[in-house]
Amino acid sequence: CGIVGYIGNQDSKEILLRGLEKLEYRGYDSAGIAVVNEEGVHLFKEKGRIAELREIVDSSVKAPAGIGHTRWATHGVPSKENAHPHQSTSGRFTLVHNGVIENYAILKREQLQGVEFKSETDTEVIVQLIEKLANEGLEVEEAFSKAVSLLHGSYALALIDEQDKNTIYVAKNKSPLLVGLGSDFNVVASDAMAMLQVTDQYVELMDKEIVIVTKEKVTIKKLNGEVVERAPYTAELDA
Ligand code: GLU
Repeated sequence: CGIVGYIGNQDSKEILLRGLEKLEYRGYDSAGIAVVNEEGVHLFKEKGRIAELREIVDSSVKAPAGIGHTRWATHGVPSKENAHPHQSTSGRFTLVHNGVIENYAILKREQLQGVEFKSETDTEVIVQLIEKLANEGLEVEEAFSKAVSLLHGSYALALIDEQDKNTIYVAKNKSPLLVGLGSDFNVVASDAMAMLQVTDQYVELMDKEIVIVTKEKVTIKKLNGEVVERAPYTAELDA
């Protein structure tokens, strides 16, 4: 299982699909990508191989930002519905997640009564929670940090917002996730190997940090909002 993300000037689809192919060695049962452009979010997901995902991706869609996922099912059977990315009810937020949310049933019961779920995953609880917090008036970044602060368990997360095509929000806890730096783009990956074809400069992330990724800039913050400075390292080409 793994996560990739790209935000920059190129079309993101092929970069995401190639990145997912590099993560195939980790094992997975389904895969998906979501890309965002002026028209909104375009979601493609499928049970089975990345080759099958490739077949359903609409090649006419061009989008400068997107996220991708390979799933190793923990909550809910391997199926198209349970494959990631997952979307909130309105479709505004789209999320990929690796890991296990231990308190998802409690969050669902206590915070999300009345929400109609489209999947059996623990992951959908996170994206629905972000939408609920945004509907209550929080800015996306605040809604994302608040939701992350309520999660117990392991997660690597990447979120896109249909209303802001220029940002990917990222967080991790006990699951691997890195940010890769490019000249006019930035990337996200579970493993540097996934994105070595586009950059060898990576920034390590610590548990419970929130990262705001645009094509120009990567901002790492603690959950209390404090900005963290961290230098990148050069990943080995044979990593
Ligand atoms: N727990 C999530 C699910 O079952 C994510 C699994 C993964 O790490 O791929 O969908």
